[in-house]
Amino acid sequence: MPATLTLVLLLAALGLGIGLGLSLAASRWRDNSDALTERINAMLPQTQCAQCGYPGCRPYAEAIARDDADINRCPPGGDATIAALAELLGREPKPLDASCGEHKPTLLAVIDEQRCIGCTLCIQACPVDAISGAAKWMHTVIAAECTGCELCLPPCPVDCIDLIEVTPPSQRPIPLHVHIPDLAA
Ligand code: SF4
Ligand code: SF4
Ligand code: SF4
Repeated sequence: MPATLTLVLLLAALGLGIGLGLSLAASRWRDNSDALTERINAMLPQTQCAQCGYPGCRPYAEAIARDDADINRCPPGGDATIAALAELLGREPKPLDASCGEHKPTLLAVIDEQRCIGCTLCIQACPVDAISGAAKWMHTVIAAECTGCELCLPPCPVDCIDLIEVTPPSQRPIPLHVHIPDLAA
């Protein structure tokens, strides 16, 4: 075999090897990053309130995993969530970022059904489908699903939704589907 052909074959094999190695490394990095995102997401309160500046808990978890977001941006989680994230990531806990909001007791939305005009705006705003109702019919909050995120309050034209304090759920499950409301619509 001519020396030039041998050299070309060697270089091709080397290139293939490097390409495979890089692809494997990228795949392993993605797996590690996904696993970290899942662990971070599992520590977040799953209210999907967007106070962290991301449109839900998982996008915030992804940003933390990428090191694009700090660990102190979740008001519903407060100090307990910050401490858990700090331990997971080997960082120092820090105070809640006040620009995101303040930590409050766990809340539940309640609709005054006598005043509800059935406009459906609250349903469209709720990120976890915790409101049932139909156009021109009274609406009701499904208490077990409501995270107290407050996102249904601003769109209600008759101000008939109140928030009441409730005992926090021990561990809110991570929702399979999160609907990101378009509040500007
Ligand atoms: S609970 Fe709200 S502030 Fe906390 S991570 Fe989820 S969406 Fe962000
Ligand atoms: S009912 Fe209101 S407070 Fe409860 S989860 Fe839906 S939008 Fe949030
Ligand atoms: S936004 Fe207010 S008035 Fe409209 S359906 Fe919801 S609770 Fe009723």
